[in-house]
Formats: sequence, structure tokens, C-alpha cells
Amino acid sequence: MKYSFCSEDFKSQPYWWDNTPIAQPELADLPATTDVLVIGSGYTGLHCALQTAQAGRHTTIIDAEDAGWGCSTRNGGQISGEIKPDYADLSRKYGVDGAFALLQEARNALDWLGDFVAKQGIDCEYQQCGRYMAAHSSRQFQKLVSYVQNQPPGLEQELQLVEARDQASEIDSDYYYGGLIIPRHCSLDPARYHAGLMHKVQEKGAQVISHCRADEIKRDGNGFTVYSSRGKIHARDLVIATNGYTGTITPWQRRRIIPIGSYMLATEEMDLARASLLMPRQRVFSDTRKVVVYFRRTPDGRRLLFGGRVSVFESDPVKSLPALRQEMLRIFPQLEDVRISHTWMGFVGYTFDYLPHLGRQDGIYYAMGYCGSGICLASYLGNRLGLQLLGKKEGDCAFADPRFQTRPMYSGKPWFLSTSVRYYQLQDKLS
Ligand SMILES: Cc1cc2nc3c(=O)[nH]c(=O)nc-3n(C[C@H](O)[C@H](O)[C@H](O)COP(=O)(O)OP(=O)(O)OC[C@H]3O[C@@H](n4cnc5c(N)ncnc54)[C@H](O)[C@@H]3O)c2cc1C
Repeated sequence: MKYSFCSEDFKSQPYWWDNTPIAQPELADLPATTDVLVIGSGYTGLHCALQTAQAGRHTTIIDAEDAGWGCSTRNGGQISGEIKPDYADLSRKYGVDGAFALLQEARNALDWLGDFVAKQGIDCEYQQCGRYMAAHSSRQFQKLVSYVQNQPPGLEQELQLVEARDQASEIDSDYYYGGLIIPRHCSLDPARYHAGLMHKVQEKGAQVISHCRADEIKRDGNGFTVYSSRGKIHARDLVIATNGYTGTITPWQRRRIIPIGSYMLATEEMDLARASLLMPRQRVFSDTRKVVVYFRRTPDGRRLLFGGRVSVFESDPVKSLPALRQEMLRIFPQLEDVRISHTWMGFVGYTFDYLPHLGRQDGIYYAMGYCGSGICLASYLGNRLGLQLLGKKEGDCAFADPRFQTRPMYSGKPWFLSTSVRYYQLQDKLS
């Protein structure tokens, strides 16, 4: 199915894959044994594997699809190092010290990622471009003002408020009521980052085997036997890095992850001058709605990439494309004549407390639940998980909290999501 607003070369696959084709399957056989088996080849799995392989552990990474097929090559490339709950919420639950530790560690994760990419020399268009957080109502702008004025002591960061009358230098749209610039936030090309990371992991001797779906896990005295679509493998240590794609082989984790669809489109190339007018400073954008939209220009500056939660379960992004384009046109009506060249979607892993978690359950290591901020947090938590597996003190992490919640009657199919999204959409309208 293709719409009249689609370009001739329209594709229902991530824009990023045009420049960085997704890795082709490794033809090697699955080894009979390995020290560390990582299930899932996104940022979490690869960062964990980088640590274990570097330490000399025989490390094997498997993925049910092409390597990197999950969210890690299909995201928006916006990097924040922020977590969803604020200081007040976290303080009620974890006390002020706990709240401080969580927020500080997420911020550190952003610095850590910038250092990692630079030191490893991963060529992925990493830029400290800053974020524009756009207010969708005057009340929300006032909330941003209050946020700037009441930053928790010790966690202050540089922030710049922009009144609606001054925001033309940031965005060519009348939709928003001003906004907040967060200069620390960054952007990258997610597929290039993934490809560069995978190269580093392979250089350290780890094997990445794609089209190898783990179907069953059996624990024995000496580790785990994993039965897969390409045979069985015995591993002394097992890591689950499946995030929004966590399935029935790990029911404990599945009951704690809420998979939520996130949908994106790319416009066709525009004249650079026209594209530059939209968002002259090449920042990343998101807005204050609970059912958020996010957008940016491509690294070459010529296209708009626009994302949002326009559906909940729909796995065919072409079906949800008209609604997504409509959202884009509400903000940028001047793009009515610009055609859409790509659309895609993926499942983001949310948690009931809106925090990511890592730890060990029934002997299996896991890190997941980044609630849409996984470029930074999946990378960082994957790294910490690898260090924990090696028994290293540097693996200590504020997100290794044992209270990884689920809800009664929840087994991994979020039947409540449609109602929740309608409720949040109503809240967005009322605010
Ligand atoms: C459209 C979209 C936009 C996003 N935008 C942003 C953004 O701008 N900024 C940001 O920070 N985050 C964003 N995210 C989220 C971010 O991409 C993820 O949080 C992050 O990539 C998660 O990495 P991961 O390695 O944990 O999981 P994934 O990269 O999702 O990898 C999980 C892998 O596990 C594999 N798997 C599952 N089950 C099995 C099995 N049984 N056997 C073998 N393999 C299995 C899957 O095939 C998959 O490849 C976005 C996500 C989407 C979908």
C-alpha cells in the first residue's frame, strides 16, 4: 500500500538503513559451548559483550533477526541521558539520596557515551546539538519555567527558556508556546553507531550470529542450555538483552516490560535552504505532551525525521503513516507538498516505574526498560551489566534496584494500553 503523498522510492524501512544497510547474517555455526551467551544484538547486548569479550571470555551474541534489527538501528538518534520520573517523584520513593543517585547517574551516562564514541573513534555523526523541548500549551511553558527555577541542588544544568515570540530562531512553527533549550543533549546516526559498535565487539573476538532465535532456556548445574532455531548451545553465563522484544522464554522479565510501538517517517530530500528554515540550528526536538512527538533533521540537513506514538499495537507502519503525517502537518503545515520517503516502527520497552533496570534473576543477567531513552541508557547499562558479570566493582549502578515491578494479571501483553493512551491524550488536550 502506498499513498499519494509518498515518494516514488518510498520504503517501509528505517531511513538509516539506506546509508548503513543492516548487517547480513553470519554464516558460522552456533558453537556448542560459550562462556557468555547474549540474547539480543542491540546496544545493550553489544555493550555487555564488549566488556566480556575484552576480558577474554568467549562471548557469543545471537539475534532472532538480522543483527541490530531491533530498536538500535531504527530509533530517532536523539540522546538525552534523562529518565522520566522527576526528583520529587523519585524522592518520595527512594529518598533524596536515592533520587539524586538515579538522576546523577543518568546524566553521567550521557558524558560516558560521548567519551566512549570519541575514544573508540566510532564515526556516527555524534553531535552535541542541544534539545528544544517545545511547550504544547502556555500552562506547560509555565511548568518549564518552574522546572528551570527549581532545579534540585547539585543537579543544576545549563538551561535556556525561549518565549513564544522569540522561538522563530529555533523552529518555523506557530504550534508551540515557547520552549526550553537543553544544550547538553546530543544526536547521532543510530545505525552507524550500531555498526561501529558491532565492529568493535567483533574485533575483540565475540561472535555475532543472526537469524538465531532463542526458543527455550534450561538451567543446569554448570550454567544454561539454550535451544535455538539454529541448534543448542551451552553457556556458563546468560544475558538477556531483548528490551521491547522480550518474549516468553524469559517470563519474569516479560511480565515487567511493556512494549509500546513508536512510529517514524522521513520526508523526501528538500532543498537545503527550505529544510534549514524548519529548524535552523539542527537541534533535536520533543514536546511536553505525554503522548509525545519528536523530530529532527537528518545529519545531511535535507530531510525531516518525525516520530510519535500514533498507534499502540500496529506493527505495520504503513497503516499508521497517515496519522503520523497528520501530526507532522499540524506542526509544519508548510510541508503539505513534501512527500514521505520512509516509514518504520519499533517496540520500545517501558516499565511500570518508568525506570530502566538491570540485575540478575534466576541466574540470568538482564538490562532493559529504557522508556524511549535507550541510546544512552541501553549503552551504559549494557556496559555496567558486562562489568557486573565479570564481578567488577565499576559495574555498580543505581539502576540495579531490586524493585523491578510488575502488576497482577500482567503477562507481557499490555491490554490496558489503549485506555492509558486515550487518558494521556485527554490530559494533553486539557493541559
Ligand atoms: C521508532 C523508535 C524511535 C526511538 N527513538 C529513540 C531516540 O531518539 N533516542 C533514544 O534514546 N531511544 C530511542 N528509541 C529507543 C531505543 O532505540 C531503544 O531503547 C534501544 O535501542 C534499546 O536497545 P536494546 O539493545 O536494549 O534493544 P533492541 O535494539 O531492541 O534489541 C533487542 C533485540 O533482541 C532480539 N530478540 C528478541 N527476542 C529474541 C530471541 N528470543 N532470540 C534472539 N533474539 C531476540 C530482537 O530481534 C532485537 O534485535 C527509539 C525506539 C524506536 C522504536
